Amino acid sequence: MPPSLAHITTWLFDLDNTLYPHECEVMALVERRMSAFVARETGLSHDEAYALQKRYLNEHGTTLAGLMAHHGVEPRRFLDEVHDVSLDSLNPDYALNDLIAALPGRKIVFTNGDSFHAGRLLTKMEMGDLFDGIFHLEHANFIPKPSLATFELMMKAHVVNGADTVFFEDSPRNLKPAHGLGMKTVLVGPKALDNTDMFVDFRSPSLKDFLTSLR
Ligand SMILES: [Mg+2]
Repeated sequence: MPPSLAHITTWLFDLDNTLYPHECEVMALVERRMSAFVARETGLSHDEAYALQKRYLNEHGTTLAGLMAHHGVEPRRFLDEVHDVSLDSLNPDYALNDLIAALPGRKIVFTNGDSFHAGRLLTKMEMGDLFDGIFHLEHANFIPKPSLATFELMMKAHVVNGADTVFFEDSPRNLKPAHGLGMKTVLVGPKALDNTDMFVDFRSPSLKDFLTSLR
């Protein structure tokens, strides 16, 4: 364990593209269904709908939050539709599961996905018993990361002390509030090593690579 993580007692994980590799096509399938939803809802062409979807993701934290703010979309209808995707590409990685299980302290999932999506994926990856808690989008009243209010809600719900916590994410902007709250931050994913944000403490191509490097 590097000295800068020796004090960690709470291990906090994003779900999508963090607990499974970016190469897995689950989020690509979800995003395709989001594009179809946005196109139908707005009457835009597919390309315009995709651009709007990405704009909302950047400006509101999720596409859904933008749709709720600007189009009055009911979250349940959107979530049920976009998460109805095949999980055939998602398989348990027992070596990764063992690495997570061996971490000293509590493990919590902090996701912008809803409870159905989180439960379904964790079950498919056989990670259901690995975590002490899950904080999902319904817990956050549909207000996604990187909202500071959502971080604070999560920390209150699970009695998380920022100074004792490390947060793993594939989305850099979600690490910014974490750093401000005193957490150590780890960016994972194929583009992580190119990142230069001051609020990122560690970078690794994947969660598995990083946890392996701790051994
Ligand atoms: Mg993610």
